[in-house]
Amino acid sequence: MSRQTKAIIDLQALKRNLNRLKALAPASKTLAVVKANAYGNGVQKVSETIQSDVDMFAVAISEEAVALRQGGIEKPILVLQGPHQASEISDYRALHFTWMIHNTTQLDWVEKAFEKDARVANQLWFKFDSGMHRLGFALNEFSTLRAKHPHFFNKHTVVATHLACADEPDKPNTSIQLARFFDTVGSSGLSLSIANSAAHIANVNARQSYNRIGIAMYGSSPFEDPNPSAQPTLDLSPVMHLYASIIALRKIPKGDSVGYGASWQAKRDTIIATVAIGYADGYPRHAPSGTPAFYKNQRIELVGRVSMDMVTFDVTDVPDAALYDEVELWGANVGINEVAAKVGTIGYELMTRVSPRVPRQYQ
Ligand SMILES: *Cc1c(COP(=O)(O)O)cnc(C)c1O
Repeated sequence: MSRQTKAIIDLQALKRNLNRLKALAPASKTLAVVKANAYGNGVQKVSETIQSDVDMFAVAISEEAVALRQGGIEKPILVLQGPHQASEISDYRALHFTWMIHNTTQLDWVEKAFEKDARVANQLWFKFDSGMHRLGFALNEFSTLRAKHPHFFNKHTVVATHLACADEPDKPNTSIQLARFFDTVGSSGLSLSIANSAAHIANVNARQSYNRIGIAMYGSSPFEDPNPSAQPTLDLSPVMHLYASIIALRKIPKGDSVGYGASWQAKRDTIIATVAIGYADGYPRHAPSGTPAFYKNQRIELVGRVSMDMVTFDVTDVPDAALYDEVELWGANVGINEVAAKVGTIGYELMTRVSPRVPRQYQ
C-alpha cells in the first residue's frame, strides 16, 4: 500500500451496536440491512461478522443478494425492491431469495414463477404504502390481493410498510402511518415489518415481527435532531473511521489564499496541511471551510476547496504537526453526522459514498 488513506471498520463495534439494538425488541426477528456494500463498510466482512446474530439480511437489488450468497451467507436474504424483471425470480431460484413485492407487475411475475415452482409462495414479503408514497400497494387493496392470491398469504408471508418521518419522532406522520397500517393488516394474522433504525429506536409500536436495521447498526444516529425527545440513549459506537495522512505542510502569510478558486484567505499567518483524500475517495466536495477533522487530540478545520485527491486543513494551532501523520476525517472524534450536517447531507450518504479506492481495514 502506498498512501495511508483508509477506512478502519470496527467489527466489534458493529456487533455491539447490533446486540444493543436487538435488546430493544427481544421478541422480534432482526433483519440486517446490508445494501450498498453494507453502507460502504464492506458487505463481505460485515455480513460474516453478524450472520449468527441476525435472522435475515436485506439488500436493495438481486445483484447484491447474489454477492452475499457467493460470499457464503446462508441466512434468508430479502431483496427490498423485488424483481426488476420476470426472469430474475427463476434465474435466482437456486439462491433462495425472498422478494419484496410492491406492484402488480411483480405480482404477475411471481404468479408465473409459482406455476413452475410452488416454493416461491413461501418467500414473499408484500409492501404496502401507508403514506410515504414511494413503493407499495395501496392499503385498500389488501383484502382484494389476499382474496385473489390466497397462496401468497401464508405463515411465511410478511406484510411490510416503510415510514417517511421515523427520524423525526416529534412529527405526527409516524403515528398516522402506523394507525393506517394496523387498521388494515393488524388483525390479518400475518407477520408484520415496519421499523427501520429510527422507528426501531424511537417507536415501540413500530417494533413488529421483523425489524429492518441499517444505519444504527453502523453506529450512526438516524435522527435529524441529535437529541429528539423520544430517543432512548443507546450508546452506539461508530463502525467506520476514515483516515488519511498529511502529505505536505507549508506556512502561508496572512492574506494568501488556498486551493482551487482561491476561495479561502488566511486571516493570520497559517500552517496548511495537505491531506491525501479527496472527492474521488468519497470525501464530499461540498464540505465547506470550517468542516472539522481530528488530529493530535484536537479539532482542526478544513480550509479552501476539496480537490479530487486532496484536501487542506489549518493546523496552525497543532504543535508539532508532521508529514505523514494521520488525520481522522470522521469516526470516534468527529461524528460522520457532524461532517454531513456541514455539507447539507446525512451520514448515510457520506458512508455509502466512500469510494472503492479507499481500502477498508477490519479490526
Ligand atoms: C434501507 C432500508 C432500511 C434501513 O433503514 P435505516 O434507516 O438504515 O435503518 C429499512 N427498510 C427499507 C425498506 C430500506 O430500504
